[in-house]
Order: sequence, then structure tokens, then C-alpha cells
Amino acid sequence: IKRNAGEPEFHQAVTEVLESLGRVIAKRPHYIDNALIQRLCEPERQIIFRVPWVDDSGNVQINRGFRVQFNSALGPYKGGIRFHPSVNVGIIKFLGFEQTFKNALTGMPIGGGKGGTDFNPRGRSNGEVMRFCQSFMTELHRHLGEYTDVPAGDIGVGGREIGYMFGQYKRLTNRYEAGVLTGKALFHGGSRARTEATGYGATYFVERMLATRNLSFDGKRVTVSGSGNVAVYTMEKIIEFGGIIAACSDSNGYVVDEDGIDLDLVKEIKEVRRERISEYVSLKGGRSHYVEGGSIWDVPCDIAMPSATQNELTGRDASLLIENGVVAVGEGANMPSTPDAVRLFQEAGILFAPGKAANAGGVATSALEMQQNASRDSWSFQQTEARLAAIMHDIHDRCAETAEEYGAPSDYVLGANIAGFVRVAEAMDALGVI
Ligand code: NDP
Repeated sequence: IKRNAGEPEFHQAVTEVLESLGRVIAKRPHYIDNALIQRLCEPERQIIFRVPWVDDSGNVQINRGFRVQFNSALGPYKGGIRFHPSVNVGIIKFLGFEQTFKNALTGMPIGGGKGGTDFNPRGRSNGEVMRFCQSFMTELHRHLGEYTDVPAGDIGVGGREIGYMFGQYKRLTNRYEAGVLTGKALFHGGSRARTEATGYGATYFVERMLATRNLSFDGKRVTVSGSGNVAVYTMEKIIEFGGIIAACSDSNGYVVDEDGIDLDLVKEIKEVRRERISEYVSLKGGRSHYVEGGSIWDVPCDIAMPSATQNELTGRDASLLIENGVVAVGEGANMPSTPDAVRLFQEAGILFAPGKAANAGGVATSALEMQQNASRDSWSFQQTEARLAAIMHDIHDRCAETAEEYGAPSDYVLGANIAGFVRVAEAMDALGVI
């Protein structure tokens, strides 16, 4: 803790994984002898840099950029870039640590990394976002490469920002190296279904998990927090599976619609107009209402899909969800449930899918994008989505089987942590002490 002072999210993520590893260490004690666990908790490299840029009024602005290259035992560092004012080194480290296990769970050849900046894109013009992205990449480009480190999007970074960063990378290197970033537009070598992948993937995972208890999304009321990339495509797939979206949110408040959230309207507000979710009620009317502030988890639902940000679902929220009869929780975001909340769900026997397994569909499809770039190929939407669905089912089954093998059936937290850990640990072990 002293070594990583002031990084509570990183401590939280590491503690959660280490708490799961007792049973695997008992079977494989050599991981203690060669300090593998200590090495696994120490990023291979951390880069912190200045990002100067000029705003529309001609003022010079300074932000801080981060890239944590956590673990490359299984492949090039891979993980998104986050633009949000809350970003600091501890948050990027927690995300990079989680990413290492998540990427291992996909079974694909990708290591773990994460990046970001405290730049707040909200209210910034298109020109300001572009100049920021260009300055950010001016430093970052020297640390990237299709065999070294391959970033993607995350909170605040979508197709527009990836395009600006790819454009600057191309200028600086004079290389059309499509495999250096994922989440690109189709004409730059992007993959079909990448935009949808995290949300669709989380839904496929939870569907498979529900089936273990003969349940499904059909006719269920589902609350999805957030209204960004992950939330929107989670809602889309749930609706396709017959579910009804009870509520969604942004960082200002949440909207409830007794007739089920109208997803086309949410897309129009968030993706086209780039406005706040509060607009929903004035545009839709009917039996919808908006609650400023407050907790979206106050809304009764059968299934909860937290898809906004870390620690957004607390112990208090979990108690209320349980009281209201929730049967399953699927984390679309990274570490959205606090440790208290996870404990309460597990004690109550609620099906609980941890983010590092349930939201792995995004990075898995990014790895498919890298495959397409390497072979200069472009797959159809159906082909890519079919691969995504198969990967999510595999991840689900691996977590479930591992939990069973280690004596904790239906404990997806333990299953995901052990299955991810074993794959990374074996790869690290075989490389010697590095
Ligand atoms: P977006 O920026 O597209 O959307 C984020 C959503 O969450 C917005 O509705 C945003 O509201 C809300 N939000 C962000 N911060 C807060 C906060 N502090 N409090 C309440 N609401 C907040 O991001 P993504 O959808 O891409 O990411 C969401 C989560 O999913 C993150 O945890 C991310 O790490 C994780 N994830 C994303 C993947 C991807 O492929 N994009 C892959 C795997 C995980 P507002 O607009 O008001 O800020």
C-alpha cells in the first residue's frame, strides 16, 4: 500500500484478485517462490506526460497524459484510452491491471495496458477535441506500435477521437499502420461490430449465465446505467432478446420510462445531438420521468447492468436491488460494484458477472480487428458478431468451469480471477524472471 500510496482504486482491484488466488496458490506454490504475484502487480512501464494544447479562445491549456503498459507476457499491451477529469495514475493502473486478466480470459494473444488523461471533453468544440488528440498522440506515438502497444477507446473516447489520434500517428510516423489502434472507422481498417461489441458481449455473457438457472432476458425489466457506448449497445441487444429497459442514466441523473426506454431516442440524444439524457423526457413525454442526481439503482428491476463507471453501485444500492428482487447483475463497466455490493450479491445467491469477464467482448473484437488488419481483410458484421458470441460463451464457460474446479460453483468472480491469472502466470513463468 505504501508503494502505491493514494491509489485506492488500484488497491481495490488488486485486493479483489488476490483474495481469489488462495486456492490456486495452494495447488501451485511455486508462484510464491519466484515472486510472480509481486511481478504481476507491478506494471512493466508507466508513462506520464504533458499535453499542451490551445483552446478556441487562444488560451494554452495543459493536461496530463498517462499510459500504463502493465503486462506483455501474452502479446502487445492492449487496452483503451480514457478522457475524463477524474483520471489519475491510480485509476489507469487499476484499469491496466484488470485489463491484463480480462485479455487473458479472451484466449487471444494480447497483453494488458491502459491509458488516459484528465482532459474533460464535455463542452469542448470539435476543433478543441481534435487539437487535444493531436497533442496527446504527439507524445504517445513513440511508445506505440502494432507489436508493442495497441490502444482503443474508453470513457470519452469513441470513433471521432480514435480517428484524430490515428491521423496524427500516421503523420508522425509516415506509416499506415492500421494495427496500431483499434476502434477505427471502417475505411481505416476498423472492424464491423466493434462499436457494438462490449455491450453485445456483456449481454451474451449474462444470457448464458441466466440459462444456468433456466432464465432469460425475455420479458425481464433491466436497468442499464450510463448512456454511452457500452450502455447503448447493451440496451440494443437486451431489447433484441425480449427484455424491457427500465431506466438509463448519465452522470447528472437518470430517466425511467414505464413503457420501456426508447433506444432510438437515446441514440439520437447521445450520438447525434451529443446532449444530456434529461432531454429524453421533453422529447418522449408519455410515462417517462427524469430524476436529477440520486441513484438509478433505486428503480426496481429484474436484472442490473451497471455500464457507466467504477464504484457506481454501492452496498446500499445492492441491498435495495436485492430487496426489489433482482436475479442477476452483469458488469458492463470496469469495477462498477464496490466490494460491499459484490459481497451482498454473492451472499444473496444472485448471479453476478464481474466486468473483467462480462465486458471482455470489446477487447476481444479489438483483437479481431488486429487480425483483420494483419491479413488486410475485412469481415462481415454477421461473421464478426458470430465470433464475438462464441468468444463470450467460451469466457462464460471457462469462468464457470474454473469456479467449479476450485470448489466454488457459480462464483464467477473467483472463476474469472483464477482462469485469467493462470493463463498470464503460465506465460510469465515460461519467459523466465522478467
Ligand atoms: P462512454 O464515455 O461512451 O460512456 C460513459 C457513460 O457513463 C456516459 O453515459 C457517462 O455520462 C457515464 N459516466 C461516466 N463517468 C461517470 C461518473 N463518474 N458517474 C456517473 N456516470 C458516469 O464510455 P464507455 O461506454 O465506453 O465506458 C463505460 C464503462 O465501460 C467504463 O467503465 C469503461 O472502462 C468500460 N468499458 C468500455 C469498453 C468499450 O469498448 N468502450 C470496453 C470494456 C469496458 P456523462 O456523459 O454524463 O459523462
